[in-house]
Amino acid sequence: MLIDLHTHSNASDGTDTPTQLIEKAIKRGLDVVALTDHDTTRGWEEASQALFQHPSHTSLQLVLGAEISCQDANGISIHMLGLLFDPTYEPLLDELEKTRENRLSRMARIISRLNEAGIDITIDEVYAQRKGDATLGRPHLADALVARGDVSSRDEAFAALLHNKSKFYINHYSPSPSDAIRLIKEAGGVAVIAHPLASQRGRTISLELFDELISAGLDGVEVDHRDHSESEKSELLKLAHERDLIVTGSSDYHGTGKLNQLAEYTTHPRQWEALQSRASLSKSSSSEGNKKTWKGVIQR
Ligand code: AMP
Ligand code: FE
Ligand code: FE
Ligand code: ZN
Repeated sequence: MLIDLHTHSNASDGTDTPTQLIEKAIKRGLDVVALTDHDTTRGWEEASQALFQHPSHTSLQLVLGAEISCQDANGISIHMLGLLFDPTYEPLLDELEKTRENRLSRMARIISRLNEAGIDITIDEVYAQRKGDATLGRPHLADALVARGDVSSRDEAFAALLHNKSKFYINHYSPSPSDAIRLIKEAGGVAVIAHPLASQRGRTISLELFDELISAGLDGVEVDHRDHSESEKSELLKLAHERDLIVTGSSDYHGTGKLNQLAEYTTHPRQWEALQSRASLSKSSSSEGNKKTWKGVIQR
């Protein structure tokens, strides 16, 4: 069983369409793939259709999710994967929209700083790199810098100008990780903290905050991920065993936007089963009088 619970499409900062993502997942022989775009569920419909319209039989299961941008009290950026939640739950949707909206003015402010430093890029050049109303992020700015010939790749743009410690870095509105967990759970889903110790991206969360998140209902922790060193993985595994957290592994695939390849890290079937059994969506949606037919896992 190949289970990859963390991927992106061009509904956020991935470069594949949801259709291309599904096609690649089938070609790669995945059994389960979760679409977890940043702060949006906009890619779900196309991904579901692509699964149903695929020309040959496939047993691929598509898990619907999102990677929610959060910030703790110290301003540290935390990514929370929500899986199997009800996308019609308004309080969660409102929170995602608030973040998405704030990302627009944040980008304008980053552009101003770049302009002050003599890089005369415009916001329209950044929008030109984004598909529709995809969640706007620094990768789109990186793509615009590549298009101008200022840098040669997203990676170079981040290394030179856009990383978290750069003078051009500005954060955007984000809920606290505890609020994100609460909203995901209220919507019947499960919450898995993404790449929590990926230290090269910037400051990472303290182990004390983990306990706060566990009290808020955190279900799992992404351990196997390209941005974790072997010692970080061991540290997280130990913590997961001590605190009874479900352990996942995933690619965080972004198309050609990053080196990450589909299924380069995967989740053990028993861990995936444990996550599914903790999701309450299936229970609530089949309750009598409630005609909701939405499912968090799609299979043809
Ligand atoms: P933002 O959401 O605007 O703060 O941008 C964060 C996103 O940038 C992450 O989700 C990654 O997809 C992407 N990112 C971060 N570092 C790099 C890098 N070195 N190369 C390519 N993409 C990166
Ligand atoms: Fe991303
Ligand atoms: Fe992330
Ligand atoms: Zn991600």
